[in-house]
Amino acid sequence: MSNSIKVLAKMDSFEHEQVIFCQDKDTGLKAIIAIHDTTLGPALGGTRMWDYENEEEALEDVLRLSRGMTFKAAISGLELGGGKAVIIGDATKHKTKNLMKKFGKFVDTLSGKYITAEDVGMSTKDMEYVRMETKHVTGIPKSMGGSGDPSPVTAYGVFMGIKASSKFLWGDDNLKDKKILVQGIGHVGEYLVKYLSDEKANVFISDINQTKLDNVASKYDATIIDNDSVFDFDMDIYAPCALGGILNTSNINKLKCSIVCGGANNQFEDETRDSLHLKEKGIVFAPDFLVNSGGLINVYSELKGYNRDKALEQTKEIYNTTLDILKKSKEEGITSYSAALKIAKNRIEAKKL
Ligand code: NAD
Repeated sequence: MSNSIKVLAKMDSFEHEQVIFCQDKDTGLKAIIAIHDTTLGPALGGTRMWDYENEEEALEDVLRLSRGMTFKAAISGLELGGGKAVIIGDATKHKTKNLMKKFGKFVDTLSGKYITAEDVGMSTKDMEYVRMETKHVTGIPKSMGGSGDPSPVTAYGVFMGIKASSKFLWGDDNLKDKKILVQGIGHVGEYLVKYLSDEKANVFISDINQTKLDNVASKYDATIIDNDSVFDFDMDIYAPCALGGILNTSNINKLKCSIVCGGANNQFEDETRDSLHLKEKGIVFAPDFLVNSGGLINVYSELKGYNRDKALEQTKEIYNTTLDILKKSKEEGITSYSAALKIAKNRIEAKKL
């Protein structure tokens, strides 16, 4: 009894609509699906498989991530709500075809109120297994009528965010000769490097994977920076495209750039404290949940009958939205992070009227 009260109290504090706990003895599936808010449309968000220490950690993660999806969809002008699912377990050991199919069956019981997609610990193949049991899944391969890898579209959105931030700060969005560091040159980072090189920016890259670094450096004429000296490096724009939680008090103190705009999710260790710290240092921050929403826009387009050009056109709007948010932040003397959240929340409230 006390556990259920705790879950409801957590749902209350995050403002969730519904949380579904799924358990299957035969496959060992243990999953939680969180539906945060469906005011704007069905709750869409990926499924993450992770070896959580305990159920509480899994619940905390799915609640936090699904809430983030609500605001990402709202700020991007999509008719979508926010949701997310987590499967508890080590993806390299516990994931099987039958487990994924069983998960798909649970998703199907929600009749489209929750739509799933790929996230950490998932592959396109896993989404194919889910697709065998439910049509409420996106990000499936092009061969199955899906939209395929969303990363190029995500990178395009980040590129739009960088250009808008430059326009806001310097009155010009031309990136020629701007010193830009892309940290993390995986799926999103490498496509971003390509956009920046095409624009003749002065591109620097860092990663923990030397093979990738050598490969991208030779393909795009980018200069490699030691990953440990990123915060000692003098640059115009810093584009974090690796993992989340990269920015904290100690490295923001050292950071030498004018703009932070990158594809990584949840870049701050503490959103309120660290976004304020950047503002106080006079560094322009393009909110991550806005500029990396190209991937979501891409899967959203899949729901309407996929059209790559339309997805890119809608992603291009990230430019105008970023500019609006940066202006609002300046006018109201608030962080760009708060300005973006305000706009997202207003859109949801307006729909309720
Ligand atoms: P990825 O796994 O393909 O690439 C991540 C890269 O970061 C890898 O090259 C890895 O070696 C590097 N890396 C890991 N830890 C690092 C560290 N400590 N320092 C430097 N480099 C490090 O992932 P991705 O799909 O390119 O996603 C990158 C980020 O963007 C993630 O935070 C992801 O959540 C976010 N994101 C991705 C998409 C998408 O469409 N793929 C959409 C929205 C948000």
